[in-house]
Amino acid sequence: MGKVYLVGAGPGDPELLTLKAARLLVEADVVLHDSLVGPGVLALIGKQANVVDVGKRCGTKLLTQDEINALLIAYAEKAQVVVRLKGGDPTLFGRAGEEIAALREAGVAYEIVPGITAALGSAAAAGISLTDRHFASQVLFTTFSRKAENHGLDWGVIGGKTTVAIYMPGADYGEVAARLLDAGVSADTPCVIVSQASGAEQKLRWLDVEALYDAERLPAPALLIVGKVASRAACEADAGLVLDILAKARAFEAELNSWSRN
Ligand code: SAH
Repeated sequence: MGKVYLVGAGPGDPELLTLKAARLLVEADVVLHDSLVGPGVLALIGKQANVVDVGKRCGTKLLTQDEINALLIAYAEKAQVVVRLKGGDPTLFGRAGEEIAALREAGVAYEIVPGITAALGSAAAAGISLTDRHFASQVLFTTFSRKAENHGLDWGVIGGKTTVAIYMPGADYGEVAARLLDAGVSADTPCVIVSQASGAEQKLRWLDVEALYDAERLPAPALLIVGKVASRAACEADAGLVLDILAKARAFEAELNSWSRN
């Protein structure tokens, strides 16, 4: 019996893989990956590995979840290192729960290798801190996918000090805006759409919740960060503040130097 590793591929840039993920890709006998995993990461897979794309394309699933579960178990019976490679972190919005349940039931050993989730990759791309203490005290990782299991978009009431990271915002950002307003978010709350974070085609759009109604859709995969931390002005003001402090520190150092010379 082999072991199944549920491995996070990160948001795209292969340099954002963990060392453990990179090692497992080199050692793997089999890699089953989603379509979201980019070519840079796939290029690290060893030549000996059998590579299977089990992802979804244009909404049509190549394989059903049950088929993927069955494949994982079947490969674990004949291969040593089976890597189940998922975009971002394997445990967030990636149906890892079903795979783990199937592996447990079949008595197959498994291990989770975390990855940098899209919300963190996107925050890094935008140069913002999700919990900047001036503006936020908590972060909500959520999704706008309207698929069957997601009837309950259980956002409750979103307070003014919450940063919301919305995965799979869909084609119509206006629907997301309406849902945010329902949840008590004010129309002028800043947000940033991050498309293809960490990739060569990365794009950012800074706006506010109201402007989401007219916002042009950015190429998938895209993620929406909503909250006071997502203000470009605040981000630049913060940077300005840091530069200001640095300038003052340099002036002070120069003064100290001249004082010690005299
Ligand atoms: N397990 C993944 C999420 C899978 S759901 C993770 O932890 O990141 C797929 C959604 O993730 C996409 O619809 C998009 O909202 C987001 N996403 C994944 N990669 C992204 C990227 N490079 N840039 C922006 N959003 C991304």
